[in-house]
Amino acid sequence: MAQTDGSALIAKSIAKEGITTLFGLAGGPIVEIMGYAPHYGVRPIGVRHEQAATFSAAAYGYVKNEVGVAVLAAGPGVTNGLTGAHVAFDNCLPLIIIGGSGPQTGRYSGTFQETDNVPMFRGLTKMSVQVDSAARVPEYMAMAFRKAKSGRPGPVYLDLPSDVLQGVVEEDDVKWPSNYYTDSVPAGSPESIKRAAELLLSAERPAMIVGKGVRWSEPTEELKGLIETLGMPYIPSPMGRGFIPDDHPLNMSAARSVLMTGADVILVVGARINWMFDFGRRFSPDAKIIHIDIEPEEIGSNIGVEVGIVGDAKASLKQLLAELEGKTDGLADRAEEGPWLASLREKSDSNGKAIQPLLNSDSTPIATFRLLNEVSKVFPRETIYSVDGQMTLATGRQVLQSYTPASRLNSGSNGCMGVGVPFAVGAKLARPDAPVVSVNGDCAFGFNAMEMETAVRHGIPIVFIVNNNGGIVGGNLESRMGLPEGYDERVATYAPDIRYDKIIEAFGGHAESVSDPDDLRPALERAYQATLEGKTACVNVFSEHMETMISRSTRASALMGY
Ligand code: ADP
Repeated sequence: MAQTDGSALIAKSIAKEGITTLFGLAGGPIVEIMGYAPHYGVRPIGVRHEQAATFSAAAYGYVKNEVGVAVLAAGPGVTNGLTGAHVAFDNCLPLIIIGGSGPQTGRYSGTFQETDNVPMFRGLTKMSVQVDSAARVPEYMAMAFRKAKSGRPGPVYLDLPSDVLQGVVEEDDVKWPSNYYTDSVPAGSPESIKRAAELLLSAERPAMIVGKGVRWSEPTEELKGLIETLGMPYIPSPMGRGFIPDDHPLNMSAARSVLMTGADVILVVGARINWMFDFGRRFSPDAKIIHIDIEPEEIGSNIGVEVGIVGDAKASLKQLLAELEGKTDGLADRAEEGPWLASLREKSDSNGKAIQPLLNSDSTPIATFRLLNEVSKVFPRETIYSVDGQMTLATGRQVLQSYTPASRLNSGSNGCMGVGVPFAVGAKLARPDAPVVSVNGDCAFGFNAMEMETAVRHGIPIVFIVNNNGGIVGGNLESRMGLPEGYDERVATYAPDIRYDKIIEAFGGHAESVSDPDDLRPALERAYQATLEGKTACVNVFSEHMETMISRSTRASALMGY
């Protein structure tokens, strides 16, 4: 009879889910999983740090609408992946982390890389368990996939002792679970849908907030249909962009504050009213909230709701549209002519005008606004942006537009620095036909810059941009973060004039460095062209330092209502 082992069973379980890529750093005892992966049609991507494996896998899952998979070597390899679990948990992203550990036999005798991984991952995952035998690998994997993607998605940790991975079993004795998911999609209760429709119909100043939770059922038509029939303005969360194209006339991102404070009925779909929306504190005290979320426990947190709809975003929006059918005649036109949309448009236009000089600034070092404006001119609509940093992120929110679902990645709900490079790697593998651009502040870039080598080695064409302003928030933390006078500047100001492009040159990629704003566009175009020819590119941009940057962008941020 044919025999198999735990590692092969892991690879086969991943393939059976239809997943074609996994991320890891080849090391014991998980290296065999990476070795077996191609036998089952799964491409193993070998990264340079386990944190990047978890980040790339999470982004791959988000962009592809499936579960990401990362495999981590034992001991430090596993602990390096903890931040990835944190990011996936906080952003509700489906991710399976398979961590190696020392052998089950010989526990507590000082075996190599013996660690108690399961409790470490407990607070950061939906499930954290150790697999007890090779024969049960398929059962645990089915459990992990079900947990990761059912209800609110999230990460799962599976601990694989080396003797379980190497455990040999007869293939005929392995039981493969089937039908381990339900395909029924939770929909809102008829009463809650009816009440929500009534509220929306009676609203004078309705508004919608869209978050990245809509990724999983992708209700693009329903979202658009709802705002257009009601003439309802909306704002997306930072990663909720693109599910409705950003250039939709009802997108009021540039009048965010006015929308949040002025709306009398707010429909929240696939977003949490957490710090990102100031816990709802800026909503009018009289505003009536309708919240659609697949996770019942989310509804009512931080702010009381008038109607809570527990259900999938697409299913619930479909119900809502059906309930509104025949009752919305002329509503969109009335809204267009009314004071609510007029006030938001006025604010949005004046904020847009206010940043024009920054977008076209000729100053040197280059203004971040100008850099991102040039980026937005060079890359096409379907581009996936992975944006990381502080000033880069804040400016990116105002300048870079997204037009397609799941095409905007950033530091996310827990503001994790270092995601920009590995998220781009995962995104490009998930959607090879879309251009992928990773824009990073120099601090954020530093965390995982070595992943550019992963991209070059595996032939993953991405444009990496370094917004090189010389340190953390441009170096000068003293005034920015209220540090005591006289602190040692070297904690946040980097060595001068670092040529980050030289790194990709060393890796064999395409390099550009720009210090004159007029050279930006040709350099970006050359970098884009290089990726079309299959190369990975890095553009180092010497950008404005703290003094000018802070005063300009805080002014612009204030104007934009952030
Ligand atoms: P954002 O950061 O974009 O505001 P969050 O990550 O804070 O988004 O919130 C996403 C929300 O979407 C979570 O509360 C999650 O439970 C919810 N969610 C996930 N999947 C679905 C779905 N299919 N339908 C509705 N809500 C969902």
